Amino acid sequence: MPDPNRTPNKTPRRSLPEPTPETRHFWAGAKAGELKLQRCDACKKAYFPPRPFCPACGSRDVSVFTASGRASLHSYVINHRPAPGFEGHYAIAVVELEEGPRMMTNIVECPQTPEALLLDMPLEVVFAEQDDEISLPLFRPLGTDSLQKNGDAS
Ligand SMILES: [Zn+2]
Repeated sequence: MPDPNRTPNKTPRRSLPEPTPETRHFWAGAKAGELKLQRCDACKKAYFPPRPFCPACGSRDVSVFTASGRASLHSYVINHRPAPGFEGHYAIAVVELEEGPRMMTNIVECPQTPEALLLDMPLEVVFAEQDDEISLPLFRPLGTDSLQKNGDAS
């Protein structure tokens, strides 16, 4: 993965995205506990990551909507190398959202092992607050009955 953590800031922690005009709605939604996607009003295709035009047909007639937050595990790799903000090995996952787009994320509230991480397993989004601006959308096994919100190892 590219390393976006070029600015050496403060204590070691996971590097955080910086909202841009294109992604501001996404991060505002995540902060409010909602997963925001965009949909093309011309060809009706839902897409991610955020951009001001449709990646399928190029139309600029796009709108933001709130996704269900449900997804399935599409693929993952288990990273064994130390990374800031993580303890031990952890899975870098690609999930397929119910609406179709895929998203790179982490699976939480679940052992980070091939025995526990089953392809196509149903997932639901949880938001891990990182700072005043950023809450990261992470995913946990659907039906995980837990009040624990901050499932990542920060
Ligand atoms: Zn389109």
